[in-house]
Amino acid sequence: MGYQSILNDIAKEIIPLLKEGKVADYIPALANVDKYQFAMTLTLFDGTQFSVGLSDTLFSIQSISKVFSFTLALQTYGIKLYERIGVEPSGNPFNSLVQLEYEHGKPRNPFINAGAINVSDALVNHYKNPSDAYKEIEAFIRMIADDKSITYDEIVASSEMTHGFRNLALANMMKSFNNLDNDVIEVVEVYFKQCSIEMNTKMLSRSMLFLANHGVDPISGQRYVTDSRAKRINAVMLTCGHYDASGDFAFNVGLPAKSGVGGGIVAIVPKIMSIAVFSPGLNAQGNSLVGTKALELFTDKTGLSIF
Ligand code: GLU
Repeated sequence: MGYQSILNDIAKEIIPLLKEGKVADYIPALANVDKYQFAMTLTLFDGTQFSVGLSDTLFSIQSISKVFSFTLALQTYGIKLYERIGVEPSGNPFNSLVQLEYEHGKPRNPFINAGAINVSDALVNHYKNPSDAYKEIEAFIRMIADDKSITYDEIVASSEMTHGFRNLALANMMKSFNNLDNDVIEVVEVYFKQCSIEMNTKMLSRSMLFLANHGVDPISGQRYVTDSRAKRINAVMLTCGHYDASGDFAFNVGLPAKSGVGGGIVAIVPKIMSIAVFSPGLNAQGNSLVGTKALELFTDKTGLSIF
């Protein structure tokens, strides 16, 4: 069966589940998103795309942006980055404070909120100021997605800032342990802007192709990260990409992937493709409920998992 028919079948099979998830209403600007939306796109190495559903609809990429900022910080700092952030699964919710205090302000990994805020801080150090740090993240995403229209939604970013008590608490906690160098508010603003970046499933699956191809964009031939860094980013996606549901996701889907509370998930099929799914209803751990199911159906139907 061809990819298009597989995607069409998946789109039919997930319909009964659309009512089950709950949108991320802790961010007021995302509370009114229609949860009955679904899109899925896969991009092959020659650039061919197969899509089903609302694949042109832009949505808030939220934590998927953590893959981009982590990649950029690794390019800049190399292994020195691991002095500030670990690479172990947290086994805790994405915004948990408890573990961070216990572990003296060193976030478990770059994909929980504390880790991503710490990465923003490292980028602010490198690019000298918060607005340039954000601009570099955006420029990097535009480059790897080959799309200059990509930008962030100011309403979502300011909604996150107004209600970002927990993220500010995480940043303050790291600051109290001397693991955050810059102004707490400025760093968290960079983090919220990157989370508020809007993309659709076509852009997202295109942007992650380099991770399926040892760090080289198979379409442009450009190398973004070394082989070994691409391996490590994939490993962190597999073990930490879905917070405390990462084991569950590996068990059911079997691909390195990263989710965001906007309802997006991007998954890597090494050496073959990158897949993006969007459906805003979330499960209890904050991952797209239908998106997870759609990817599970995909790997079941195609046998394309890393296991
Ligand atoms: N901006 C969101 C937050 O900080 C990101 C969470 C997510 O996508 O998991 O709460």
